[in-house]
Amino acid sequence: MKERGKLFVVSGPSGVGKGTLVGMLKDADDIWVSVSATTRAPRAGEVDGRDYFFMDRDAFLAKARDGGFIEWAEYSGNCYGTPTDKVTEHLDQGIDVVLEIEVQGALQVKEKLPEAKLIFIEPPSLEELEARLRGRGTETEEAIARRLRTARVELDEKMKYDYTLVNDDVDRAFTELIGYMASAA
Ligand code: 5GP
Repeated sequence: MKERGKLFVVSGPSGVGKGTLVGMLKDADDIWVSVSATTRAPRAGEVDGRDYFFMDRDAFLAKARDGGFIEWAEYSGNCYGTPTDKVTEHLDQGIDVVLEIEVQGALQVKEKLPEAKLIFIEPPSLEELEARLRGRGTETEEAIARRLRTARVELDEKMKYDYTLVNDDVDRAFTELIGYMASAA
C-alpha cells in the first residue's frame, strides 16, 4: 500500500512571496496545493475554485459550524479556511499536501495533526516587505499598514514553526524549500 502523504503548512507575512513559492510547488509531481475558502472579495484576475472558493460570511460560518474546515481564522477583517475533505482525500492517496495559510490557522493544524510540518517564510527585512507590498499595487495604504502590523505579530510566532527560510531570492528559496520537504520525515 502507498504510504500516506505528508502535510506541509506554509506561512509568512503578506507580501513575502509565499504565493510565488507555493505556485512553483504546483508544478511538482505528487504535491497537491489546497484551495482555501474565503469571505474576501476576489482580486483582479483571481478565479473562483482555482485561487480561492469565494463565499459570503453566512455560508462560510455555516460550513465552519458543520466542521467543514480543518482550520479557519479571521485575518485582516475576512475569514479564511481550509476545506477538510480534499485534504484528507489527497493524503489518503499518498499525495503530499501543501496549505498556504496564516499563523493562527497553522497552529490549529499543528494541534490537530502534530505530524504536519510547519514552514515559515520570512522577508530579508521589514523594509523590504513594505516595499514589496507597495509594489504589488493591489492594496490601499490603510490595508498595507494593517498587513505590516500583522506581519510584526506573525514574525514573533516563527519559533513555533518546524522550519524557517528567508525569501531573499525566489529560486534559491525554492531550492531550499523543496530540499526541506524532501528530507522531512
Ligand atoms: P490574501 O488575502 O492575501 O490572499 O491572504 C491573506 C492571508 O490569509 C495570507 O496570509 C494567506 O496565507 C492566508 N490564508 C489563505 N487561505 C487560508 C486558509 O485557508 N486558512 C487560514 N488560516 N489562512 C489562509
